[in-house]
Order: sequence, then structure tokens, then C-alpha cells
Amino acid sequence: MRRIAIVGAGQAGLQLGLGLLDKGYEVTLVTNRTGEQIRAGKVMSSQCMFHSALQTERDQGLNFWEEQCPAVEGIGLNVVNPEVPGQSLFSWSARLERYAQSVDQRLKMPVWMEAFTRRGGELRIEDVGIAELEGLSASHELVLLAAGKGEVVNQFARDAQRSVYSAPQRALSLTYVQGMRPMSPYSRVAFNLIPGVGEYFVFPALTLNGPCEIMVFEGIPGGPLDCWQGITSPEEHLAKSQELVRRYLPWEAERCSDLSLTDDNGFLSGRFTPTVRKPVLTLPSGRPVFGMADALVVNDPITGQGANNAAKCSKVYLDAILAQGARPFTAQWMEQTFEQYWSYARHVVEWTNTLLQPPATHLLQLLGAASASQPLASVISNGFDDPRQFAPWWFDAGQCQHFIQKMSQQAA
Ligand SMILES: Cc1cc2nc3c(=O)[nH]c(=O)nc-3n(C[C@H](O)[C@H](O)[C@H](O)COP(=O)(O)OP(=O)(O)OC[C@H]3O[C@@H](n4cnc5c(N)ncnc54)[C@H](O)[C@@H]3O)c2cc1C
Repeated sequence: MRRIAIVGAGQAGLQLGLGLLDKGYEVTLVTNRTGEQIRAGKVMSSQCMFHSALQTERDQGLNFWEEQCPAVEGIGLNVVNPEVPGQSLFSWSARLERYAQSVDQRLKMPVWMEAFTRRGGELRIEDVGIAELEGLSASHELVLLAAGKGEVVNQFARDAQRSVYSAPQRALSLTYVQGMRPMSPYSRVAFNLIPGVGEYFVFPALTLNGPCEIMVFEGIPGGPLDCWQGITSPEEHLAKSQELVRRYLPWEAERCSDLSLTDDNGFLSGRFTPTVRKPVLTLPSGRPVFGMADALVVNDPITGQGANNAAKCSKVYLDAILAQGARPFTAQWMEQTFEQYWSYARHVVEWTNTLLQPPATHLLQLLGAASASQPLASVISNGFDDPRQFAPWWFDAGQCQHFIQKMSQQAA
């Protein structure tokens, strides 16, 4: 059988590795942390996944937490009035047609790693650089690099045409908590936009010790939500999270009177630059390495798409590998396979990037109009499952006006 090596045991590498094992391929997965280290480490993501990405996991029998994990049933938006701090300019919410879920990657990845070895995969714990990639490419017919935001992915050249940014656009923070009052009448990603300051969103998830809520802060660099430097203890991080919510979002603070961190590793802060990279790395030996998911297309988490993209990328790559049969995995095949993924991912990148900029006038009108038009709120919410649906009306002022009218007529 064909021998394939994958570097990185995250959403993309593990899902592809497990898929290939199911089809009888020999798979070596090389990653730099053991399952125990991941489980005992800090949270890594908020990893909210929408229906079609979750479906790729169900199709592979990997939805081990479907029953225990709280459902995210909708999406809500609250825009803060820039003139009157602490007051809402408008708000709306809509149900998702099918629920989303977030399973802490500290819970998920170690179990998937165990499933990988149980199903016959070879798991190696090693920090991979160029020398190790050379070794893998000498012994395998295809080497995939799914190392997420690991330093090694900088070996792929930045795609200057497809990359809009050269610096991080948000200071990020995660706070995993228990004791938050749930949203009613349905659970949701409660998204709050604070003009000129940043964003805060919060939603239910499943973590190591049961259900929780994940608070995500996105601070415009240099602004008041860019405030995590020097905060190292779990207690300080939680206190800062509560202080920010109280200061900017009183309606969210009402839910937060009795919060505790899920565990001493239930917090994170950092920043990174949204980037698109070229898909093929040519090693000194001349052999190619193929990148996938975050290693090639890394978005700011403002739209919660990275883990969704990783799942969808693994599906595109799995299908392309199977379709290749016994033929060689050439650099040209890699370019073509990536373009197939990019034909989806570019919509995610374009849409996500609009949200990192001060909103265009037509977008503010669109979001405001959704508070008076439930069909519009519903279309925007359900677009998170497949951001291709936002084109063309999200991006073009004229198309947007037309779309608002159409949706408002439907509402009437
Ligand atoms: C704050 C924050 C919030 C987020 N929220 C969401 C969300 O709500 N929804 C969503 O869909 N996405 C979200 N994401 C993004 C999502 O977590 C990632 O896009 C997704 O995990 C990417 O999967 P991946 O498999 O490409 O990489 P990863 O999951 O990062 O996996 C990379 C793997 O490679 C390993 N590795 C790295 N370097 C090496 C090396 N040199 N040698 C060997 N192994 C290596 C790592 O240990 C890891 O196992 C968020 C991200 C952040 C930072």
C-alpha cells in the first residue's frame, strides 16, 4: 500500500491521517507533543465548528463527543453604540439551521491520536525541521505538513498576492469558564462588536471537565482590548476578562456574576498575522512537501473558521489522494489539489478580512437592517457554515442594497 507521512496532529493532520488509514494506506504521523502533553497543556483555540465541517467528522466516525457537547444553536450580534459607551446600537439573533459544536482540542486530539494508533497508524513524537522532512520524504511517497502555526510552516513561501496583511490585526485572548448564565431561548455565539476597540464573542463548548463557555476577546492592536501582556496567572486573566465585559458590555456582564475558570490552563493570549502561503516546499534534495490547512491559509479567528477550514481541507486532500490511485504525487498534483481547496478557502479569507477592517458603510447598513429582518439575520448567521454564501452581496455596496431590499420584502 502507498506510504504517506503527515506532520502535525491537529484537526487537519489527524483527520486526514485517520481517513487514509480507513482506506488502507500506511500512514506515519509525526508531531511534537504527546497526547498527555496536549491534555495537560494550555487551551489552543475556541474551535467552534459548524454543520458541514462537523459532518466531515461524522462521515469518518470521529464525532465521539456529539452527545456530550452542548449544541450552539444560533448566532447573535450586538453592536455597541460608539457615541454612548455601554449602550447597544442594535442587536439581533437567528437560529442556525443545524447546530454547531466546540470540543476543546485538549480533549479531542489525544483521543484521535489514540484512535490513529489503534487503527494501525504509526505515531512518532518528534519536532520536525528540514532534516526530518528530508528523512520522511525519502521513505514515503507523499509528505504533508499540517503544522498549524508552528515555526516550520514559514518554510512555505508567503503568497504576496493572496496575503493582505503583514502584521497581526487583533490581540487575541481566550478564557474558558464555568458558571455563566446561558443564553435563552436558544444557545448561540453571542458576538459583540465594539467599534474602534474590537470584538468579544462567547459560546458554549465541551472541555476536559464538562460543559463550559468560551470567552474570546479580539482587541484592535494598541487599543484597550490589547491588554494581555504581563498577565500570566489564571486568576488575573479571569479578573481582566470580567473587567472588560463589565466595562464594555453590561448585557454580557449580567451573565458573568459567578464565573470560574474551567482549570488553571483554561486561558490563552497571543497574536498572529493572517497569511496565505504557497502550497509546495521544495527540499534541498529536490523532493516536494505539501502543506495543508493553517500551514497554508491562516485566518484571524474573528469569524471562527480555522478548524472548519482544516476539516474541509482534509476532505479535499483525502479525495484527491484517493483519486490519484497509484500515480505519483507530483508538485503539479499538489498545486492543483491546493487550488481546489483554495476555491473554497478564498471566500473565507475575503470575508474574514472584511471584518478585520473598520466596517464599510454598506456592511453597517446590512448588519443594522438584520435587526428588522429575521430572514436577513438568518442568512447572515447560516453563512458561517459556508462563507461562499456571502458573495456577492457582502462585498459590493450596490448588490448589498439590493439584497437588503429583497430580504426586507421577505420579512414583510
Ligand atoms: C484564539 C483562537 C480561537 C480560535 N477559534 C476558532 C473557532 O472558534 N473556530 C474555528 O474553526 N477555528 C478557530 N481557531 C482556529 C483553529 O484552532 C485552527 O485553525 C485549527 O486548529 C487549525 O488546524 P491545523 O490542523 O491546521 O493546525 P493545528 O490544530 O494548530 O495543529 C498543528 C499541529 O502541528 C504540530 N506541530 C507544530 N509544529 C510542529 C513541528 N515542527 N514538528 C512536529 N509537529 C509540529 C502541533 O503540535 C499540532 O499538533 C481559533 C484559533 C485561535 C488562535
